[in-house]
Amino acid sequence: MGELTTGIQYLSGVGPKRAALLEKELSLSTLDDLIHFYPFRYIDRSSIQRIADISPDLAYVQIQARVVSRNLINIKHLSVIVEDESGRLELVFFKGTKWSYDKLEPGRTFLFFGKPQTYNGRINIVHPEIDVPQEGSMAQSALTGVYPSTDKLKNGGVTGKVMCKLQSAALSLCLPEIRETLPEKVIRDNGLCPLQYALKNIHFPSDSYALQKAQRRLKFEELFFLQLSLLKQKYVRSRAEKGIVMPKVGEDFHSCYNALPYSLTGAQQRVIKEIRADMMEGRQMNRLLQGDVGSGKTMVAVLSCLIAIGNGYQACIMAPTEVLAQQHYANMQKYLAPTSVRCALLTGSTGTKDRREIFAGLQDGSIGLVVGTHALLEDNVVFSRLGLAVVDEQHRFGVDQRARLWAKGPGCPPHVLVMTATPIPRTLAMTLYGDLDVSVIDEMPPGRKPVQTICIGQGKRNAMYKFIREEIAKGRQAFIVYPMIFENEKMDISNVEQGYEDIMKAFPLNDGYKVAIVHGQQTSEQKNFNMDAFAAGRAHILVSTTVIEVGVDVPNASVMVIESAQRFGLSQLHQLRGRVGRGAEKSYCILVKDVKTSAEAQQRLDLMCKTENGFDIAEEDMRMRGPGDLEGTQQSGLPVNLNIASLAKDGMLLTEARAYAMRVLEDDPLLEKPENEPLVKEMRKAKYNIKDYSKIS
Ligand code: ADP
Ligand code: MG
Repeated sequence: MGELTTGIQYLSGVGPKRAALLEKELSLSTLDDLIHFYPFRYIDRSSIQRIADISPDLAYVQIQARVVSRNLINIKHLSVIVEDESGRLELVFFKGTKWSYDKLEPGRTFLFFGKPQTYNGRINIVHPEIDVPQEGSMAQSALTGVYPSTDKLKNGGVTGKVMCKLQSAALSLCLPEIRETLPEKVIRDNGLCPLQYALKNIHFPSDSYALQKAQRRLKFEELFFLQLSLLKQKYVRSRAEKGIVMPKVGEDFHSCYNALPYSLTGAQQRVIKEIRADMMEGRQMNRLLQGDVGSGKTMVAVLSCLIAIGNGYQACIMAPTEVLAQQHYANMQKYLAPTSVRCALLTGSTGTKDRREIFAGLQDGSIGLVVGTHALLEDNVVFSRLGLAVVDEQHRFGVDQRARLWAKGPGCPPHVLVMTATPIPRTLAMTLYGDLDVSVIDEMPPGRKPVQTICIGQGKRNAMYKFIREEIAKGRQAFIVYPMIFENEKMDISNVEQGYEDIMKAFPLNDGYKVAIVHGQQTSEQKNFNMDAFAAGRAHILVSTTVIEVGVDVPNASVMVIESAQRFGLSQLHQLRGRVGRGAEKSYCILVKDVKTSAEAQQRLDLMCKTENGFDIAEEDMRMRGPGDLEGTQQSGLPVNLNIASLAKDGMLLTEARAYAMRVLEDDPLLEKPENEPLVKEMRKAKYNIKDYSKIS
């Protein structure tokens, strides 16, 4: 009894030293940890290849061959020649040479397993695994699991084979103790296999069908509990939190709406209806607004704020950077001009005097809308009646920050509208924002022109400058963006400043060209001055670092040049490209790549040239890089670490699991029924302990 909690060091073949290594490298300390550490892929070891058929393209081969000769060239180099009926092959060892030399006696036959490679025009295998042919124990089933590993582990003797042995030993001890985590009904409804079966077959699949069943069961369970936790929070919250009821639309809404120079797109109208319904309902709104760059999210935010204000409440809009906050503020002033709403801007650089005035205005309720940065979260920002908080570009804020806004409501949390900067994949949205309702703007405002994207090498630079001159001659403007290359901000600046000098040479003042430059080390005044010069059309070219990534709206710009484009992530490239195609007849995005561009980076650039759809790009980005590395998830983080399921690959299963979790909660919102008791017990485990935003202040 109690094997699951037994420390790993008591397993035969481990001991204190390896135990410490396993703990340090893989965070495995008990047998329970160990058996939940799964292979990340499997190798089919049931088939044996002929030596003559081996090609270096194969990921792995297994051969059964007789040792012909062995030659210990030196203590760090052993060469062994083996043969089967089809031919001969060299095996090479650089480590453990003595041991291998002794084992590989000429005349004896072994199973060798490894990755073939070409060396000096001949095929060999370096460090093959060596087995004595025999009918298999558990660890030699046809499909062998490959576990994540590190160099330190391998050097410490914990090879793939050793890991398999440890798993086999741990499973024989622990399997009888494994209790089913899912209620009978959940298993039946979803056609899952029992947990014991799943654990055994995830490590030692009896065949590929058993492996599939095991994977499906374990992935489903993980996704199901994740969704159940998220959805349960949502249910609990919607019962517990009374939302501010906002029954009217109000005059300011109409004044703003009627003065708009364009009509809203169908998608914008639909989303505003969804938001209005939430705000009227008496349930606190927690809504995610997704829409591609340029889809018109700001307008939706403005009108939502005006609903709150029209009902006698205040609203705030929080942006991730000062530049963006300023841009929003400028837009707000435009949109709010026909209304009587007083609007303020609060950022880190707001002066003491203005700050005091704003604090007073928020506290006495005379300021209806405040736009700002993180500065809004500070304790001394006190609202009279905050009814709606809009968070723009959510992914740059930590989840805790979102929660801090909650505490600023009038005795109950304000309605919350979260806007993403760029589309995020559906599965990621369901997970990162699984406790939110989601609105999608899936339609672009009319008049958006397609942006033609091309990728060029350094050799085409002069042709590009010529092209930009032609565009300028047509009255257009161009962005030229440089990446942040160095950790050190000063060096980044020198990178963009070098670029600026090159551009000045190609576009000399003497010929009438005006070039503005914006980067992170300038003061707000310098930034504004340069930005304004470009926005007002006084400068033809804006050279910058990625500070212009978000928000900036210059409809007359028709060219976006992205230097060292291979260094950017997809969503950033997409964001940048979204800065053009807003007004000009035809717009262009030119991705300039350096000589050193990896195959992976090239894939990204190719994808950019192929599609303009932000949702497609986001999906592809996740497929290429996995959800953990996506821009946006690094800072806020996934709510749980998925052990086996993948947001990139298991979208279908996630949808299934979420739908089923919803069914369970509809039937038993607080999970009080006896049949659901196992679920509650499992959800108490630390790994499903998802932060409840409503409890953080
Ligand atoms: P994003 O979703 O990227 O935040 P914005 O709200 O900045 O997009 O809108 C992009 C541009 O489209 C702005 O110039 C805005 O004025 C304009 N716009 C928004 N809605 C419409 C519409 N319905 N018709 C025409 N132009 C619109
Ligand atoms: Mg925006």
